[in-house]
Amino acid sequence: MINSIIDGVDRLFGYSLLQKYPLVVAAANSREAILSAWWAGTIKMGAMIGVVLVVNLLVGLLLIKQVRHGLTVEGDLKDAQAILEKLVLQDALTGLSNRRHLEKNLKLEWLRAIRHRSSISLIMIDIDFFKSFNDQYGHIAGDHCITSVGEAARQSINRPSDLAVRYGGEEFAILLPDTKAGGAYKMAEKIRLAVMSLSIPHQENPNGSVTVSLGVYTCVPDSSDYQFLMTQADSALYLAKRSGRNRTIAAVVTNSNS
Ligand code: GH3
Ligand code: MG
Ligand code: MG
Repeated sequence: MINSIIDGVDRLFGYSLLQKYPLVVAAANSREAILSAWWAGTIKMGAMIGVVLVVNLLVGLLLIKQVRHGLTVEGDLKDAQAILEKLVLQDALTGLSNRRHLEKNLKLEWLRAIRHRSSISLIMIDIDFFKSFNDQYGHIAGDHCITSVGEAARQSINRPSDLAVRYGGEEFAILLPDTKAGGAYKMAEKIRLAVMSLSIPHQENPNGSVTVSLGVYTCVPDSSDYQFLMTQADSALYLAKRSGRNRTIAAVVTNSNS
């Protein structure tokens, strides 16, 4: 590449000696002329790469948006499922757990107690003379009474593993995993006294206010029959009713470890 003395432009210079004549042929092409085709190709290629990059970027952004949207929908579905699962296990009137929840937890805790050879207790609770309460004060007052008694039971339990349940009608159950007979009896009495201290007037009750009867059963499970705990606690509740109500009866425990 030399600078032309004719026009001062940088040119690529070439020459050749002719065979037939005593002449030298010289040609000089300017840098711009040589590179113009290369520049045109480079710019075209660059533009194409740019377009491809922009398209890729847009597609990428669109995909990220879709994935985010998908994650949000999945999160919403999981939330809805969790709410539904909670509702299925909850009693509508009191907000306590329901009988289905009790059976679910009892099965798990029963198996755990078998593995750990630990005690498990169940308290069954029933409001005394509730039919006459409804008759005298009406069903709405009856519902309020059920809710207050359920709340008193819920507030009496301490451990996260304890479960207070509205078993049905005016009956409640308290599942106490890893709890021996003495502790379960104390808990039952705590609930009975908590209900008395609510002082809900009930003329047909000899006490003058709403009371509950409670049956307690404790065992160290040695069979797969988890219903055993419920039937035994229910029998103890029946005894509490027959012995005059407003009391706790703990059934005789057959397991030596309890
Ligand atoms: P006891 O002392 O032997 O338990 O007598 P009780 O009258 O409480 O027992 P009974 O089983 O004869 O009556 C229970 C009553 O509870 C009957 C029913 O009208 C009432 N009941 C059941 N579920 C509900 C409810 O959800 N709301 C209201 N208000 N009453 C209910
Ligand atoms: Mg009842
Ligand atoms: Mg009753």
